[in-house]
Amino acid sequence: MGRDESQLGEFEVIRRFFTGIGAVGSGVVLGVGDDAALLHVPAEADLAAAVDTLVAGRHFPHDSEPRSIGYRALAVNLSDMAAMGATPAWATLALTLPGADPEWLGRFSGGFADLANAHGVALVGGDTTSGPLTVSVQILGHVARGTALRRSGAQAGDLLAVTGTLGDAGAGLALMTAPGRRDFSSAAARELIERFEYPTPRVEFGAAARGIASAAMDLSDGLAGDLPKLASASGLAAHVELERLPLSQALLAAASSQQARDWALGAGDDYELLLAVPPARYDALSALAVRLNLRLTRIGELRRGTGVTWAWQGEPITPRLQGYDHFR
Ligand code: ADP
Ligand code: MG
Repeated sequence: MGRDESQLGEFEVIRRFFTGIGAVGSGVVLGVGDDAALLHVPAEADLAAAVDTLVAGRHFPHDSEPRSIGYRALAVNLSDMAAMGATPAWATLALTLPGADPEWLGRFSGGFADLANAHGVALVGGDTTSGPLTVSVQILGHVARGTALRRSGAQAGDLLAVTGTLGDAGAGLALMTAPGRRDFSSAAARELIERFEYPTPRVEFGAAARGIASAAMDLSDGLAGDLPKLASASGLAAHVELERLPLSQALLAAASSQQARDWALGAGDDYELLLAVPPARYDALSALAVRLNLRLTRIGELRRGTGVTWAWQGEPITPRLQGYDHFR
């Protein structure tokens, strides 16, 4: 860390902003402060582990609200737990910062802490270094042994469903970054930007879908980029009826229906769940969505074969967008 008077030292940063976040006691034997955290994994559970990194200028605009950066860094990881049907319990945070500005850090850790507290996730350790702004969160959770949802569990004939609405976060990001278009005055624009800045990981739904859904993943790269991963993991082909894609009122208010569909398919960052479910269990999944007050939409099905096909009102079409690939 720099030695600027207005800046804090590394120890001070950890003590002030990253100690005591989230529930302590939920299996935390030892949290922040030692060389490693000690965690008690429940008996008869599998440990679920995932890590996701957000790089400034790549995963969020450089001038993003720090609250949103902290919130999103945890949200995208909670979404990975949701996709496995796992219950998130602990997180570690590797934070690379250009400087230790207490005002920025307060807002960042506030966003992180709000979501951590809401899900009972304890921040149990991390690493703090100086450099270009990069936020890496590792999430650890647990799931009753052998019951986690995988991408590979689907069977031919299973229905494909998604939670929530698609394309909102992509539209929000486009609004945030469009040159000369920083008019966020409409309620629709504000709602879309909020969907990018504060995504809602579907943790309760994912955990409750165990035993009902046959496969699941979360949508971080857009349906067109992510669905082929689930289909190929299950050794199947996927077919999607594009007119079924769930689009929000806000998205339809802010964009043409063609543009809205392009975002729903090709833009990422929605963090909704994509699920496969045997037809006989669709009603059970649907009832779960009603109970959790979450929209669930059937968008297509899995078939024997490979690849993904798309139809618009019964006619095969080739959508123009693909999911986000960091190296393309
Ligand atoms: P070490 O050199 O042993 O890795 P550090 O000085 O890096 O220890 O960290 C001291 C303690 O603070 C450790 O328990 C570490 O896990 C924790 N820690 C460091 N940075 C963060 C952070 N950004 N968020 C949460 N805990 C952190
Ligand atoms: Mg360290």
